[in-house]
Amino acid sequence: MPKYAFFGGHIVPIEQAKVSIMTHAFNYGTGCFEGIRAYWNEAEEQLYLFRMKEHYERMHRSARILHMGTPYSVEEMGEITVELVRKEGYRQDTYIRPLAYKADELVGVRLHDLHDGFAIFAVPFGRYIENEEGARVCISSWRRIDDNAVPARAKITGAYINSALAKTEAVLSGFDEALVLTQTGHISEGSAENFFMVREGLLITPPVTSNILEGITRATIMELACEELGMETVERSIDRSEIYIAEEAFFCGTGVQIAAIVEVEHRPVGDGRIGQVVKRLRELYFSVVRGDVARYRHWCTPVYAGSR
Ligand code: PMP
Repeated sequence: MPKYAFFGGHIVPIEQAKVSIMTHAFNYGTGCFEGIRAYWNEAEEQLYLFRMKEHYERMHRSARILHMGTPYSVEEMGEITVELVRKEGYRQDTYIRPLAYKADELVGVRLHDLHDGFAIFAVPFGRYIENEEGARVCISSWRRIDDNAVPARAKITGAYINSALAKTEAVLSGFDEALVLTQTGHISEGSAENFFMVREGLLITPPVTSNILEGITRATIMELACEELGMETVERSIDRSEIYIAEEAFFCGTGVQIAAIVEVEHRPVGDGRIGQVVKRLRELYFSVVRGDVARYRHWCTPVYAGSR
């Protein structure tokens, strides 16, 4: 349990960070949020926030889509985050949750003419799904929200009912995760993670026009695969049956990190075990996020003073 939160413009004891049952965002899902991970580096006794700037840039974009002002710049949000996490004193992997939301206490669905609240909390965090090295996945009977209904590229709180429906259906049916299709029946993404597959040695991922969240891990993987493995990523729409014949497939996201998909709808992906590309990307990713690769150190923001 965290001890503090950033709420109402200050770092306050977590018990004081409360909203009313009348809060607009609580009633209508009118908020946007981020999920940022911080990784503990034992050798350096340092906690590194991974790609925090990119997360706050996306939050600003989500807020624009929601007619929401952002009371703090990307840099200020970063400074507040460092201060909060430092005050918590965490010496373990941590998850940071910033929220921007319509804070008025009134009845009336709209986005304009309302006041915006901003809050952050941070909690210790480990794995998001159990089987990161061998996830078994179904195709959800739920479809992904469409850009002309609820834009998926904005990380909107209310939109996560779509993710929750897909996730719960998958887990109650005995799977680890769900793959969700677009309205036209192409692969969009997982319930809360982006999707990649390997076919004939090529990395392939759905384009940003497939109603995906434009993931920061997705961008990280595209860069690492290109720079470190010499693999280009093709962004194109993906048919459901392509996954049945893919050599490898995986999910990626801040929460899930990189999780190998070894089975889709009772069919093995490749030989049904974690593949070489996913394995190498996972190793690379985990050293990068902990600040162990000099070339990508600029993605890692140290929380505690006295860092290199
Ligand atoms: N898609 C959805 C729907 C998500 O909730 C997330 C997690 N934020 C992702 C993809 C992955 O995005 P990121 O890599 O930026 O965490």
